Amino acid sequence: MTEALQRRLAERHQQSRYRKRRVLETAQGPRVRVDGRDFLLFCSNDYLGLANHPQLIAAMQLACSEYGVGGGASHLVCGHSALHHRLEERLAEIAGRDRALLFSTGYMANLGVVTALVGKGDHILEDRLNHASLLDAGLLSGAKFQRFRHNDLADLERRLQKLPAEGLRLIVVDAVFSMDGDMAPLSDLAALAQKYNACLMADDAHGFGVFGKTGAGSSELFGLNQEQLPILMGTLGKGIGSYGAFIAGSELLIESLIQFARPYIYTTAMPPAVAAASLASLELLATESWRRDHLQHLITRFKSGAAKMALPLMASDTAIQPLLVGEESLAMAISANLEAEGILVSAIRPPTVAVGQSRLRITITAAHTDADVDALLGALHRVVPAGLRVATL
Ligand code: PMP
Repeated sequence: MTEALQRRLAERHQQSRYRKRRVLETAQGPRVRVDGRDFLLFCSNDYLGLANHPQLIAAMQLACSEYGVGGGASHLVCGHSALHHRLEERLAEIAGRDRALLFSTGYMANLGVVTALVGKGDHILEDRLNHASLLDAGLLSGAKFQRFRHNDLADLERRLQKLPAEGLRLIVVDAVFSMDGDMAPLSDLAALAQKYNACLMADDAHGFGVFGKTGAGSSELFGLNQEQLPILMGTLGKGIGSYGAFIAGSELLIESLIQFARPYIYTTAMPPAVAAASLASLELLATESWRRDHLQHLITRFKSGAAKMALPLMASDTAIQPLLVGEESLAMAISANLEAEGILVSAIRPPTVAVGQSRLRITITAAHTDADVDALLGALHRVVPAGLRVATL
């Protein structure tokens, strides 16, 4: 075992794929300290800048003093507190669904829902670029698992046409693709699912809180109701600034998950105080809608500045603005040069993305200012080599 592990780690190093963690000495946010140095951070998923909001902090502190720290047990044993329950009710209300069910993480929600709903003899079709948790879930489910070309409705339809009549059919997509920042064509997918008697699931990890008039996410943006999009997954650790995840849908779906979703049943409930922080955040979606507007303004500012410099941005209108580099070592070098400029952006490399598709995953949040975005653009201007500039003008 020791030798095998050492060999695998050495290989990772040689391929410029070795992953390292940074130790943040401050709260995450637009400004952080690492090794005693101050940086501007452009790789957090706290899209609305809510993770350090005083109302979330106060709600969590108060709930801690009333409910303690630990969840104590799984939801089905004795870990389901009034705060979890209230959060589920609020999430269902906001998502416009019958009910919602909390999971401790988005990874577990995805594993839980897919493995509870399909198994041997069933069919699952996933976009190639779906999040790792959805791909893992597809494999683990035991259903016949196919990956269709990214956002390619014709490829999906061809595959649906070839399916045998027997077995359930589940189509699963990221609503916003986590490493690319583009969105799935949810309305067209919903129509295809109905045409071929399949059930549609969307993972809205990067959209919930951020899109839609009320912040209800991608389903609100596309105007899709429970019948058109029966399985909606959202996370609470990104736009909501807290932690955890949920599945929203029909009464029948949620009751089935409570009975059969193993990552729901066999794990400790999230701390109730975390649920309290999420509840406080959901209220801010309504009272501080300026955060969504400000984020949109910054995205536009960044994209137009980047276009003027012919930076190789991927086609994305969301807060995830990846800069496509290609080679792993070059992506690492640009990330290191940005760090020298006082800016932290992570390089994303295989196996997270395909070989030759390494990139800098830049994320913008509502906690950034115009000046922060301009500082990022200035640094990119200095560190992105001329050979990578694209003729987009
Ligand atoms: N789905 C997507 C699309 C994600 O990007 C992520 C997180 N990176 C998850 C699910 C997992 O969510 P969590 O971090 O809550 O486990």
